[in-house]
Amino acid sequence: MESDPQKMVALLLGIPGARLIELRGTDDTLDLLIETEDRPVVCPECGSSVEFSGRVLEDLVASSAGGQVIRVTWRRRQWRCVTADCPVESFLENDAGIVEFNERVTAANSRFPLRPVVSAPSDWRNRL
Ligand SMILES: [Zn+2]
Repeated sequence: MESDPQKMVALLLGIPGARLIELRGTDDTLDLLIETEDRPVVCPECGSSVEFSGRVLEDLVASSAGGQVIRVTWRRRQWRCVTADCPVESFLENDAGIVEFNERVTAANSRFPLRPVVSAPSDWRNRL
């Protein structure tokens, strides 16, 4: 049994490199705030270096484990190109593990629909 909570989250979600920022349990859900691995990024348009320009919150597809509904929110980094005349102003990081997670969970939910939950989603805005 894996005891490192960080590795447990990556394993549980199947998102390589994912890191748990905070976990909140509600009556009928587990709400997780995660971020993905901090990898080197360049501008997708001109290939220049980029600077950090903030984060946004993105909800992933809800899943279930051990009878509980799991709601994962991704704290997604935003970058800005440093080249003055580049048409790209800012862009969001991409992560193949997140895309695969959403696809996998959507397929699982179509076979085993999630039970409805009543708890309001966690508000993570103070963790941006
Ligand atoms: Zn650029």
